[in-house]
Amino acid sequence: AKQTGRNNFQFYTPAMNEQALERLRIEGDLRNALDNNEFLLHYQPKVDLQSGRVVGMEALIRWQHPQLGMVSPARFVGLAEETGLILPIGAWVLRTACAQCRVWQLAGYSDLSVSVNLSVRQFLQKDLVSSVADALQDTGLAATSLELELTESLMMTDVEHAIGILRELKTLGVNLSIDDFGTGYSSLAYLKRFPIDVLKIDKSFVRDITSDADDAAITASIISLARHLKLKVIAEGVETDEQLDYLRHYGCDEIQGYLFSPPVPPERFEEILRQERLA
Ligand code: C2E
Ligand code: CA
Ligand code: CA
Ligand code: CA
Repeated sequence: AKQTGRNNFQFYTPAMNEQALERLRIEGDLRNALDNNEFLLHYQPKVDLQSGRVVGMEALIRWQHPQLGMVSPARFVGLAEETGLILPIGAWVLRTACAQCRVWQLAGYSDLSVSVNLSVRQFLQKDLVSSVADALQDTGLAATSLELELTESLMMTDVEHAIGILRELKTLGVNLSIDDFGTGYSSLAYLKRFPIDVLKIDKSFVRDITSDADDAAITASIISLARHLKLKVIAEGVETDEQLDYLRHYGCDEIQGYLFSPPVPPERFEEILRQERLA
């Protein structure tokens, strides 16, 4: 039994114990995962709704654990954040994603761009701007081909500081996107002050747009807001044709989701690109 209150105490059930053990183990293994080359990136296509073409991809990290198999980021990104390991891991993600995008551009898909998720720790890291600049320089990727996905909560911890960093990033020429838009607590007033380029509608709204009037209204409002602020708007988590129709009807620019493709290994992404070229 669990009891909360003044004398907060908990009895540990075997299940909780197992959870704690798994956490410890993952934390230990996480320290060596980078050196052991156990991380890889999957890429999820972003599709432009006007042209129906793949215009870019989001890089999503995967961990191929020697015993546990494929570990999803939900199980280790938070831990990496707490331990600070997200800094070297995030730097690896940035470089790998930029290098991959450049390779595909040189193979003929010259307009392709790549999105990379930034964690709070990375965002607040002193040399963030120079490490982004270095990754671009070393891989030869143009800044305009890189998009950084940031969450509202990340920017709201210290608004003035965040605006300063965002401005510096914009000076490099990279694109900035607010991920999971609508789930955080940022006020619309700030939106005007953040030098951002893209709003990404969270998949929790997209999921129920065809069944829940509130989610439908929120989604339509975000699209309209983005248009008025001259921001690009993209919807994530698009799984059905009905959702697609709704988003298209309201003028959403791009979509991402299982309907078109889940995140896939680079080899599979190349096949998607090739098929498209033939189409
Ligand atoms: P996110 O940035 O919001 O990424 C979108 C998540 O939605 C991904 O989960 C993706 O696989 C999933 N998804 C894509 N299409 C659909 C769909 O149609 N339906 C549903 N239900 N889900 C869909 P994933 O890859 O497990 O990543 C989870 C989270 O882990 C990401 O959420 C992001 O916050 C974090 N993450 C992933 N890679 C990185 C990384 O390289 N760096 C950092 N800092 N965080 C990362
Ligand atoms: Ca994202
Ligand atoms: Ca998201
Ligand atoms: Ca999310």
